Amino acid sequence: MYIDSHAHLSGETLFPVAGELIERALLAGVEKIVNIATDKESLEKGLLLSKKYLSVYNTAATTPHDVEKEGELFFPIVEEAAKKGLLVGIGETGLDYYYEYAPKEMQKTFLIRYFNLAKQWNLPLVIHCREAFSDLFAFADEHYKNCPAVLHCFTGTLEEAKEVIKRGWYISFSGIVTFKKSEALRATLKEMPLERIFIETDAPYLAPQSKRGKVNEPSYILETASVVAEVKGISLTDVAHQTFLNASAFFPFSKVNSLV
Ligand SMILES: [Zn+2]
Repeated sequence: MYIDSHAHLSGETLFPVAGELIERALLAGVEKIVNIATDKESLEKGLLLSKKYLSVYNTAATTPHDVEKEGELFFPIVEEAAKKGLLVGIGETGLDYYYEYAPKEMQKTFLIRYFNLAKQWNLPLVIHCREAFSDLFAFADEHYKNCPAVLHCFTGTLEEAKEVIKRGWYISFSGIVTFKKSEALRATLKEMPLERIFIETDAPYLAPQSKRGKVNEPSYILETASVVAEVKGISLTDVAHQTFLNASAFFPFSKVNSLV
């Protein structure tokens, strides 16, 4: 059984077909899907999905790309959802200096606000980081010490991966690890302890190698799992088993309030 630790099921692309995708995922052995809500609408839709389907859980935050546009607007809504126990995590938040769609200072401000929110409600953090690892580690060491986080869709270097592990955090591998050109990422994966790894689709984005260019969906996680098995020289069953345990220990699935 698998956990897709990061998908955007309630976004514009997938929500209209979410029911189908969830069924297909279940048939493929994806028992849980962590839906990442990034704005008011996708959070409302995500909560609808989690009411209807036992396999869907939600996290929420404004991505670093959109903090200038709607960070202020969404923050109190995320706060309220966390308070009501509707979330299994805060995110995706973080820093993206590659695109830098929002000013760095503002990305930092929201990252720290989300650090505090996660601590306040005892929720783990889902982090997006691109070309900003030294700042991320510095801010986290100051404001988020010894608190749980996962680096989603990891594409950093081996050194950066080691820094992530050193903080007791997890590293999540997406379909990128299946791409032909991702030799360096596979080399990093090989060095990572299996106990620290999640797998994710980041659907609808980043479909794996055999489905490149298509709309990604949670059932495609099997291809990523197969590559992890191959790189680590272990069975697919072991990958499924261990990544399931890892994500289950991280996200408070049993504590989420489904009655609201
Ligand atoms: Zn994402």
